[in-house]
Amino acid sequence: MEKFDVLVRGSGCVGRSLALALGARGLRVALLARPTAPRSSADVRAYALNAASVALLSRLRVWEGLAEDARTPIHDMRIHGDRVGAELHFSAWQQGAGELAHIVDAAALEDQLDAALRFAPHVQRVTEAVPATLQALCEGRDTGAAEEFGVHYERHDYGHLGVAARLVASKPHQGQAWQWFRSPDVLALLPFDRPEPGHGYGLVWSLPKDEARRLLAAGPAEFESALLAATGGAAGTLRLAGERQAWPLQLCRADRLCGPGWVLLGDAAHLVHPLAGQGLNLGLADVEALVDVIARRESWRSLGDEKLLRRYARARVAPTWAMGELTDGLLRGFASQAPVIARLRNEGLRLVDRAGPLKKWLTARALGH
Ligand SMILES: Cc1cc2nc3c(=O)[nH]c(=O)nc-3n(C[C@H](O)[C@H](O)[C@H](O)COP(=O)(O)OP(=O)(O)OC[C@H]3O[C@@H](n4cnc5c(N)ncnc54)[C@H](O)[C@@H]3O)c2cc1C
Repeated sequence: MEKFDVLVRGSGCVGRSLALALGARGLRVALLARPTAPRSSADVRAYALNAASVALLSRLRVWEGLAEDARTPIHDMRIHGDRVGAELHFSAWQQGAGELAHIVDAAALEDQLDAALRFAPHVQRVTEAVPATLQALCEGRDTGAAEEFGVHYERHDYGHLGVAARLVASKPHQGQAWQWFRSPDVLALLPFDRPEPGHGYGLVWSLPKDEARRLLAAGPAEFESALLAATGGAAGTLRLAGERQAWPLQLCRADRLCGPGWVLLGDAAHLVHPLAGQGLNLGLADVEALVDVIARRESWRSLGDEKLLRRYARARVAPTWAMGELTDGLLRGFASQAPVIARLRNEGLRLVDRAGPLKKWLTARALGH
């Protein structure tokens, strides 16, 4: 049987991007997709992608193929605490950036990655594992890395579900994202030109499991009035456009990112809470780092050489750890009912809002710089 340079296991956004990026460097890549039952409906998530992710997708000739209404720029973001006046405002203009992020249709992004793969002569889709010098595990949270390679995962279950849906608002979004941090929920409205240009939002609402299940089972009118109460009418009235979907939320980290002949990327390596909108951004940064390490390798060094793969692991451990800690710290701070913590967290938001350099630093991290 033909031996490939790399077997990419898992064809989510991270696996497909990796296959494209390695194929573009002339490596022979096999992309293994698990046969799945056709989905009854498209993924309703709208991803916030930072500048670094957009740059990678542009180089892979994926970004330009996305329809205009499948990628909406965010110019402003307002984060609210659970006390009046506790607010943090990020503005692309103040930070000297074109935009803070782009909101991208999950299903459209997957389709566009597929379209690019059709023109990638070095990438072959396979339905069974094939021999390869390097196996890149991009299997998401259901990866078999624990059983196969003895990887241990540190997991924290938040006891929440992340409810996602598309909404249409009565007020125009004007490129502004909203986020509410409080106990026990975190709610984000991401401006998005689907389903209605200028008035659409992607919803990500992190709720305790029981409350999430109750709202998922509720009729549209009850769900919409819960949304109106939760957002205080800031974005106007909000109408559901389509179905609601939900994901269990965890913080999860692998204790190792590589071994001889194998490497972990994306959600197979780390899961973070979607409040910061960074999971896929981290996965695409993994792709960048691995491709860079492979491109710079000594000519005599094998792709599966653990010493080579450790360079990738070293590059990714700190940023992944930092993002996990930041989102986890925020969540824990805002989950506490203790009055002193409540005062501190709300005061913290106000202070960050006034502290120019800290705000700039946070924005730069979110932009992927
Ligand atoms: C509600 C919500 C909102 C989010 N919002 C954002 C956001 O705004 N911004 C952001 O950056 N991130 C966001 N994320 C995170 C983002 O969705 C994930 O980080 C990203 O989808 C991970 O991609 P992946 O390719 O690593 O994994 P997946 O998308 O899970 O893909 C893994 C693939 O591998 C396949 N697979 C599994 N096992 C095998 C096997 N043995 N063989 C072959 N194939 C296999 C699976 O079927 C799947 O197709 C959000 C997540 C949630 C839940």
